[in-house]
Amino acid sequence: MIHQEELVQQQQQQYAPVQSMPGRGTEVPESRIERLAPQLRVEGALRATRRPAEREVPIPVPAAAGHRFLIYKQDPSVAELGVRLVFVPTVVLNGPTDARITTELPGTAPVARNANGDFVFPPNSPQFDCAHTFAVVRETLTMYERHNGGNPIPFAWNVGGNTDRITVFPRAGTGANAFYSRTAKALKFLFFTPQGQPPTATVYTCRSLDIVSHETGHAVLDGLKPGWLAAGNPPQTGGLHEAFGDISAIFLALSQPDQAEALVALTKANLHDRSFLPALAEEFGRALGLPTGLRNADNDLKLSQVGNEVHAISQVFTGAIYDVLADVFTFELAAQRRAKDPTIILIEVASRLCKLLFDAIVAAPATGATYVDVANKMLQISASRGDPAIYRTFIRNRFAVREITTAATPLRDLMSGRVKMTEADYTGDGRDVTEVETHDEHSASLRAEQDRSRCCGTMQMPEYRVVDAKKLAKRGTLEDDDILRHELDELSRAFSK
Ligand SMILES: [Zn+2]
Repeated sequence: MIHQEELVQQQQQQYAPVQSMPGRGTEVPESRIERLAPQLRVEGALRATRRPAEREVPIPVPAAAGHRFLIYKQDPSVAELGVRLVFVPTVVLNGPTDARITTELPGTAPVARNANGDFVFPPNSPQFDCAHTFAVVRETLTMYERHNGGNPIPFAWNVGGNTDRITVFPRAGTGANAFYSRTAKALKFLFFTPQGQPPTATVYTCRSLDIVSHETGHAVLDGLKPGWLAAGNPPQTGGLHEAFGDISAIFLALSQPDQAEALVALTKANLHDRSFLPALAEEFGRALGLPTGLRNADNDLKLSQVGNEVHAISQVFTGAIYDVLADVFTFELAAQRRAKDPTIILIEVASRLCKLLFDAIVAAPATGATYVDVANKMLQISASRGDPAIYRTFIRNRFAVREITTAATPLRDLMSGRVKMTEADYTGDGRDVTEVETHDEHSASLRAEQDRSRCCGTMQMPEYRVVDAKKLAKRGTLEDDDILRHELDELSRAFSK
């Protein structure tokens, strides 16, 4: 945990007067960073204060620009991770603003970088909230851009050369919610004080890495699949949107080495042990009296238990992906334990699974996508990229046991705890099937109206309920009047009589 005093101390050391150290015996060689021009040095990177000397050998200077941000690695209630410095390796202007994301907080934004070009502010200050929220949105978007071959992912309105940014509102108003709006081209994070609590207990949703990453996930998915947010889709399509948000938060955490290592140490490399990873939005959940976060990805929910309620349906998909993650990690840990540190194995496993899911979603239908559509794309892409057969066994098992798909692989080994977790070719019955069927075609999760009453703010925005589904499925700017289009057309007809 980085303390503010340490940062201040580091800064003081950096600017301490230069002193020579005569008669000290062996001298410590100068840090090469001392030879960098002052404007290239970063605050806190330097402890030695010796006078630079000429050197004959040129030193490599990192080509990438970048800035340090101070962020909560989970949220203020998860003390074991606390606030830490992160390096964002791209150019960020005062705001913070970059080419895709900008920040809005009246009276505070634009927030200026400090003298070293960093966005490091005292935790919970308005400036910190701007920097933290921007950094987590940026990290989530960057994670998916990396899985997209390093190519930018358009927001839903980025068509025909449009490069409009998404605007992040860290303190958008009061309320126990957060949302993504295509109409507003915005991510809005609200804050609330739990009933009967003092103002010091106020929960700012922008300070949760899970919540910020979840809402950014909605924006990323709306860019990839603009037809999926319309409420007229089957409940499972809505479930995919909610699940993608939660899964984004889990994969973002596992893309960060310090979080992955903390998790491995805390759980002794057992992802089904209790930890901060599957618990989503811990502080928010606690404020509502939920000890394991707002949602728990490590759940056992089946489709027959969740009806048409989209928030619950999403947890079935998230849970299946979480189980596949734990299964693949167990397999790879056994296979690679003599060659690699468990933390490195976990980071690599999570990254490959995130990429597999990302590619499967890109390949899934443009509208009305269901869990079995995504599961089948995962199976097919996994086979084509040469994953061991047991990866597909894990995917088939986990989707089948949750009553999403038929059990193409016999479930008897899974249900009796006898899956051969370390056998790369294990399929149960020798068949490496890459096309499975829907478990129950009459499931309410496929046929009923979407009940979004317990979803996050995104799913409750009227724009996704009343705007014509065909218009939503097309990319492009969405105006406020599009939300009222039907009423305005009726009025127009009435007034022209
Ligand atoms: Zn959501």
